[in-house]
Amino acid sequence: MPKESDIIVAKSAGFCPGVRKAIDQVLALEASGKRPVYTLGPLIHNKQVTQMLEEKQIHSIDTPDQAIDKRGVLVIRAHGITPDFQKEIEAYGMPVVDATCPLVKHAQNIIAKFAVQDYLTVIVGDAKHAEVIGLMGYTQGRCHVVSSLEEARALPHFDKVNVVSQTTQKESVFYEIAEEIEKHADVCQISNTICQPTKDRQKETMEEAKNADLVIVVGGKHSANTARLALLCKGLCPHVQHVETEEELDEKLATSAKKIFITAGASTPSWVIDSVVFRVKTLRDRANRKIVYH
Ligand code: SF4
Repeated sequence: MPKESDIIVAKSAGFCPGVRKAIDQVLALEASGKRPVYTLGPLIHNKQVTQMLEEKQIHSIDTPDQAIDKRGVLVIRAHGITPDFQKEIEAYGMPVVDATCPLVKHAQNIIAKFAVQDYLTVIVGDAKHAEVIGLMGYTQGRCHVVSSLEEARALPHFDKVNVVSQTTQKESVFYEIAEEIEKHADVCQISNTICQPTKDRQKETMEEAKNADLVIVVGGKHSANTARLALLCKGLCPHVQHVETEEELDEKLATSAKKIFITAGASTPSWVIDSVVFRVKTLRDRANRKIVYH
């Protein structure tokens, strides 16, 4: 067992401002007695938070007609929705609270601005992700979604194209794909809509992963941004473990690694991160290891 080691907890770990704002909004609605609260889709991709919200009568539904109690409130989650769906839910007759992250709104506005100028939109991201589905609604029905260079190479020629990104995309991947799309167009507008909290989190993760023997990424297995963090570290660090809770930790790795970097996705609550840190610390206590908080 090594004699010395550090555990570094990312300063960027945990809720991003958009997720925090959305959660604060639904909790404030619930506290003010505006119950039940219905979010259109899970507010965030994290089982522990979803359970906590369910206990507070904050339920996830897909469409307004699934709201059992029509005296409740409908909430648009941080990922945003299409303008058509927004009109539909506003016409439904229940109060609507819009918790779309301002940085997703920024991406929606950029798409809408160029779409009315006859630009076709290419979104770099995951076509099945809720945010991307929402973004597609602002393209006036003229868009492609690509997630790899191969898909970009297969695109046709465009007169005018606006290339945007899912807000949680890896920046180098976005620019690599955007450069390829530029070759397919007479006029190419490149709009980097990756949000600053994502850029900061990815930058810190890649810098620290290079110096670690083990990176522990904490967050939901269905959270795209958490999974992307784990992917970013592969190749930079010998061992990467993506865990939802402290129970999934690989004890052998957690005790034998000399340097451990712990990070977490934008939808991971602080109490889950703290439990993982505590468990790692407990496992290593006998060797009197030092925890350094950035
Ligand atoms: S990841 Fe970025 S865009 Fe998405 S909710 Fe968080 S701050 Fe907003």
